[in-house]
Amino acid sequence: MIKIRNIHKSYEMGQSSLHVLKGIDLDIETGEMISIMGASGSGKSTLLNILGILDNYDEGEYVLDGMKIKRLNERKAAQLRNRKLGFVFQSFNLVSFKNAMENVALPLYYQNVPRKKRNTIAMEYLEKMGIEDWAHHLPNELSGGQKQRVAIARALITKPKVILADEPTGALDSVTSREVIDLLQEINNTGITIVIVTHEHDIAQRTARTVKITDGMITEIIKN
Ligand code: ADP
Ligand code: MG
Repeated sequence: MIKIRNIHKSYEMGQSSLHVLKGIDLDIETGEMISIMGASGSGKSTLLNILGILDNYDEGEYVLDGMKIKRLNERKAAQLRNRKLGFVFQSFNLVSFKNAMENVALPLYYQNVPRKKRNTIAMEYLEKMGIEDWAHHLPNELSGGQKQRVAIARALITKPKVILADEPTGALDSVTSREVIDLLQEINNTGITIVIVTHEHDIAQRTARTVKITDGMITEIIKN
C-alpha cells in the first residue's frame, strides 16, 4: 500500500537548512497496522506528513496505492487525501464551532455530498463509534476520548485505504487510550491500513511492527 525509498527532507530556515529525514526506506502492506516510535524531534511527524501528502519531500520515491506521489499541486493532493487517507491527530483538530455530526460530515462536504445525506452518513459513523448521543454537541462539550472518536469517525467517513494517526492517544488518560487503540484495531480488522506514531510502548506492541526512527533514519524495525 505504501512504498517509500530513500526519502530525504530538509526544512529551509533563512540561510540555514535542517536535514530532518535522511534516507527513509519503508514498505507497508495493505491491511497492516504499524507503529512509528522515536524521540521528540526525530522526524516522525515529518514522515507522517509526507505519507499524508500534507508536505513534499526533496529526494526519493513515494508510491501510495500504486500511485507515484511527487510534487503534486494542492488540488490534486487534496483530492488524493480525500479519497485515500484519513487523519487522526493528538489535538483532535475538530472545528470548534461545528457540532460532532457536522465535524464528521465535513469531508463529504468537500465531495459535494448534499447536507442531508452527509449528516445521515455522519450519524451512522457516530453510532459505530458509540457516541451518537453526542451528535449535536460542540467539541468543547466533549471529553478527550469522545473528541478522538469524533475525529476517527471523520477519518473513516470517506472510506480511506490508510489511516495516519500522529500520537492519537497523546492527550488521553490510559484507560481512554486503550479504548481508542481498541477502536483503531477494530478498524484495522476491516482491512484498513493504519500507521500510528506513538511514544507509548504498550500501544506500539499492539501493532504488527514497530519502526524506530533516530535522528531522521530508521534504526530498527521490530516485529511484535
Ligand atoms: P517528531 O514528530 O519526531 O517530534 P518532527 O518531524 O515534528 O519530529 O520534527 C523534526 C525536526 O524538524 C525538529 O527539529 C523540528 O523542529 C523540525 N521541524 C518540523 N517541522 C518544521 C517546519 N515546518 N519548519 C522547520 N522545522 C521544522
Ligand atoms: Mg511529532
